Amino acid sequence: MQIPFLDMKTPYLELKEELDEAYQKVMESGWYVLGKEVEAFEQEFAQYCGVKYCIGVGNGLDALFLVLKAWGIGKGDEVIVPANTYIATWLAVTYTGAKVVPVEPDEHTYNIDPTKIEIAITKNTRVIIAVHLYGQPANMPAINDLAQRYNLKVLEDVAQAHGAKCYGNRVGALGDAAGVSMYPGKNLGALGDAGVITTNDDEIADKVRVLRNYGSRVKYHNEVVGHNSRLDEMQAALLRVKLRYLDVWNSRRVQVAKSYLNDLADNHGIILPYVPEWADPVWHLFVIRTKQRKELQKKLSDNGIGSLIHYPIPPHLSGAYDEYGWKKGDFYISEQLADEVLSLPIGPHMTNEQIDFIVEKMK
Ligand SMILES: *Cc1c(COP(=O)(O)O)cnc(C)c1O
Repeated sequence: MQIPFLDMKTPYLELKEELDEAYQKVMESGWYVLGKEVEAFEQEFAQYCGVKYCIGVGNGLDALFLVLKAWGIGKGDEVIVPANTYIATWLAVTYTGAKVVPVEPDEHTYNIDPTKIEIAITKNTRVIIAVHLYGQPANMPAINDLAQRYNLKVLEDVAQAHGAKCYGNRVGALGDAAGVSMYPGKNLGALGDAGVITTNDDEIADKVRVLRNYGSRVKYHNEVVGHNSRLDEMQAALLRVKLRYLDVWNSRRVQVAKSYLNDLADNHGIILPYVPEWADPVWHLFVIRTKQRKELQKKLSDNGIGSLIHYPIPPHLSGAYDEYGWKKGDFYISEQLADEVLSLPIGPHMTNEQIDFIVEKMK
């Protein structure tokens, strides 16, 4: 049996008829960037998250960056980011000219540890970015409490957690704004690059709408130095189809995760994901920890089972952040995670046979 880490083809085959129809409709419409499909998807995703506004943009990184820019974040400002995240979260801050201030994760959830945020706050801090990593919601009430006390904005990074809930509330509606990626491999994935911003804030919604489209509200009237980061009609039309299946597909991911959690519970030498009782994760990734990662990954691979490491190098040790002068040991928990984490295959189209096979080989 061959089990790829990520199966991108079966999702298409399941929805082929509807996706092909959406494709045809856009092709024949003669209108390809920012149009009726984008508007409809923006409305539908806003409704899904329970927010007033959704604004389509080019990708998840731009979504985060444009919110920070709309808030006026720039040189001299500090933004608190999880030390354990994909580098895109940090890059969004760096693009604005602001400084990233990493905070270590909770050792059980791997998400930013709210008890370690306060000590990182200075007079220059403006924003806390909460990433719902691997599909697990960050502890939003704790983060929002701190933000309120210090008058900071909270930006959610929802790239890995479409549909996840924190204390029963859907992410994307739990901070001041959210940046969402719809890169193909994400839980709600386009068939190319795509992203959105969600918010309840009238002013920010208006500003990012202008920023994403050359700083113009009316064609050729450029109010500010804008960007070109627009969602196209094709991706929006395809995403509208896929949004209708998001909850069903997420619940299949939950089933796969439950099988892993049950069947691998008494395995020695690996640490399984931990889910706080207030969290409803959507399992973008199923991340285990082991000191024998290399051996395990090789054994899995010898048995035709794909696995990946998310992520092997923490952002503070990557070349991109050389200028900060960080060294090994500065963010020890994140470094340890980078050395020990391994992601097992998970997805809405895994069969019971595949899960059983992986469990058997893991044992
Ligand atoms: C994928 C991802 C992003 C960036 O999304 P793109 O659409 O690839 O720009 C940002 N943050 C996290 C945590 C991600 O996983």
